[in-house]
Amino acid sequence: MSEERSMKTHIDYAHELDIMVKPEALVPGVDREVGTILGSGFPLFSIGGGYFRQALSWILLNFHTRRGYYIVETPTIASDELFQISGHTDFYRKNMFMLDIEGKSYVVKPMNCPFHILVFLNELGKRRGKLRLPFKIFELGRVHRYEPSGTIHGLLRVRGFTQDDAHIIVEESQTTEVVMSIFEEMKLLLEEVFSLPISSENVKVRLSVSDKNLIGKEFMGSLREWEHAEDALERVAQRIEEDYGVKKVVGVGEAAFYGPKIDFLLTVREAGVVKEWQMGTIQFDFNLPRRFGIDKEVREVFGDVKVYLIHRALLGSLERFLGGYLEYSKGRLPFSLAPLQIAVLAVTGGEEVDEEILRVARELKEKLISLGFRVGLEEVNKTGLSGSIRQIESTIKPPVIVFVGAREVKEKALTVSIYSLQELKRIQKRVSFANVDEAALELEKIAESLEESVKKVSGARLRLPADLSFLL
Ligand code: ZN
Repeated sequence: MSEERSMKTHIDYAHELDIMVKPEALVPGVDREVGTILGSGFPLFSIGGGYFRQALSWILLNFHTRRGYYIVETPTIASDELFQISGHTDFYRKNMFMLDIEGKSYVVKPMNCPFHILVFLNELGKRRGKLRLPFKIFELGRVHRYEPSGTIHGLLRVRGFTQDDAHIIVEESQTTEVVMSIFEEMKLLLEEVFSLPISSENVKVRLSVSDKNLIGKEFMGSLREWEHAEDALERVAQRIEEDYGVKKVVGVGEAAFYGPKIDFLLTVREAGVVKEWQMGTIQFDFNLPRRFGIDKEVREVFGDVKVYLIHRALLGSLERFLGGYLEYSKGRLPFSLAPLQIAVLAVTGGEEVDEEILRVARELKEKLISLGFRVGLEEVNKTGLSGSIRQIESTIKPPVIVFVGAREVKEKALTVSIYSLQELKRIQKRVSFANVDEAALELEKIAESLEESVKKVSGARLRLPADLSFLL
């Protein structure tokens, strides 16, 4: 079995969690393969995957708004004019999906940045001195980019994806503090929500800087801007090395023409092979503020201050992050994000007690749903129990499995199996109860301990209840 497990890729795990991404999977009725009917690079988050996506969105929105980011929602398609100002039409055209509507050129947005700058300029014009810097704009921004079909791969390389994207307009005196806070945010998300501790084992840091001799030539902007931005990024890299032993890789001359950046890569070791996935990024941009006249507008409102524009994503593309994470966790998701959170297995054996087992299991399921959980109930015969567990563990993988059998009903104690993402294995517990209500409340306590870290970063418990028995 371990042999078989290690052969699985993130595409298999995603398929098991109900994401339509396996090209060869067949859709009945239309009788076509997923890869044909959806095309290449557009994964569909089906029922299970849908709950995951909405739960993650909820966490990210709460997380950001509590940290002073303003939330926006910008259109998927807009006039080419916007992207001419940003320069994307000239420099990024080969990656863009373009449309002709009534003889006018439109762009399916490949990036959210131009819209976020419009938001800033619009607010600056309307509210003037009421705006405070740093000004932080966040969006779960769905973007589309052309990638050749030969490079498309599961969730890791797609054509349509969602970024946890933010743009920050920051005064020069605030840059180091802001850059450091972005790293803190990434660390919080990875450690608290995904139980993914930052260490030299998991994370790589890549710093891309200019070649000082080429500033003003290949690298646009002033020496002051480059030195200031690179210094702020360097300090974060230094801090990560000191605190976590993660050594940075510095690429001299590898910065984009418009600014230096730091990239965080998730590394997963499997059978001696190291795989790397791009996650978050912090990137300075000296180009867009000039193209959109930000400096001039800011000076009019705030006087003689120097501002910087920072692009940042913590997880990067949600699709790519999920792909990498599923390989790391072997298809397991944290309790708050798992499509099916609690499976209730009614273990019958053709005895008189079966009736009571089914009553308790059904009532328990209803009670747990009313408490806000995503629950599934399945009746299994005790002779087939191990097969059922294998089946569940190789598909929907609920973090909590509750067994209700003859012994549990007689002894008034449930058997509960909880998957620990820290230990990467299941832990068994017995939970005594006098009646079903009490059993549900005891299970809620267990669930609350699993939700605690999400509550810590997003300020509330995430409850998105559903009866998902059909996924079992
Ligand atoms: Zn951007």
